[in-house]
Amino acid sequence: MDIQITKNTSPKEKPEASVLGFGKYFTDHMFIMDYTPDKGWHDARIVPYGPLELSPACTALHYGSEIFEGLKAYRRPDGGIQLFRPLENARRMNRSAERLCLPEFPEEMFMEALRVLIDLDKDWVPSAPNTSLYIRPFMFGNDENLGVHSVKHATFVIILSPVGSYYKEGLNPVKIMIEDQDVRAVRGGTGEAKCGGNYAASNRAGERAEKKGYSQVLWLDGVERKYIEEVGAMNVLFLINGVVVTPQLRGSILPGITRKSIIELLKSEGYPVEERLISVDELAEAMANGTLEEAFGSGTAAVVSPIGALIYKDKEYVVNGGKIGKLTQHLYDTLTGIQWGKSEDKFGWTVKL
Ligand SMILES: *Cc1c(COP(=O)(O)O)cnc(C)c1O
Repeated sequence: MDIQITKNTSPKEKPEASVLGFGKYFTDHMFIMDYTPDKGWHDARIVPYGPLELSPACTALHYGSEIFEGLKAYRRPDGGIQLFRPLENARRMNRSAERLCLPEFPEEMFMEALRVLIDLDKDWVPSAPNTSLYIRPFMFGNDENLGVHSVKHATFVIILSPVGSYYKEGLNPVKIMIEDQDVRAVRGGTGEAKCGGNYAASNRAGERAEKKGYSQVLWLDGVERKYIEEVGAMNVLFLINGVVVTPQLRGSILPGITRKSIIELLKSEGYPVEERLISVDELAEAMANGTLEEAFGSGTAAVVSPIGALIYKDKEYVVNGGKIGKLTQHLYDTLTGIQWGKSEDKFGWTVKL
């Protein structure tokens, strides 16, 4: 792939680690590439980070044909930079593309675009504890045409954002509201695709939860509102009676790479893990009788996020005394150890740049 590079002649001041937060600052460059049926993917370029020029009739703005990915580049103790399972992101993006009738983006090109862009902006990979460079590849339909049909012109972009920890409060347990009105996704819909539309549909419940003082919602299945699905931007796992249980993937849940890694890690340590249907009644019972020992969300942004309380039908259940559990802490330490290159990666999950 031939990438045209236009260097930014007025690079920005890099923010202090303490103010980073999540997704507020962007590096000096971005990667862009276009697709049309006759030319395929073409015109790969890295240009100074800045506004995109779009037609007001651009497909994504009207009909929501947009997909994205999220992964991180980590600063190793030796100063090098590494990625965590980036091929999984490339593959998932192509599954999302297939669902939304966007063109496939070849995995090798995905990897090369990442390498070249991150190399150019490598000084933006922060080194303070718990900081990283968040990578946001995305693709959208970019036809100038209000007719409803599948996309011809697509645009693929990668932007980079230095980030601190996802939650302002750090690794503290959050309160989660079990949502029994709105639904996020149904089987056969786009729930297992990483697309912007899923988030647009989630915002109302998220706002309602926030007004009540809870940080996110836990979704139930869209048909019966009976089975646990996932949390806002995270998958969810429970430790019930010594067994880790998590909802099985059946079409409406986003197949998280953190979720997959946790399952593989637990299995390698001999921990019992079950991927199956979990009804909200089963969970309520486990909360009431104390067999729910720990609950946590999993995702690239926060890695592992302990759940300190669950609210269902206005009743609040405290989980593990509102504190982070031993297993949750162990998973956080193990995963972040591998991601930042502080502990041995016996799974071969990391890719050095
Ligand atoms: C991205 C995402 C996740 C987490 O996936 P990871 O690959 O672990 O980052 C979970 N749920 C939703 C809805 C997501 O968009």
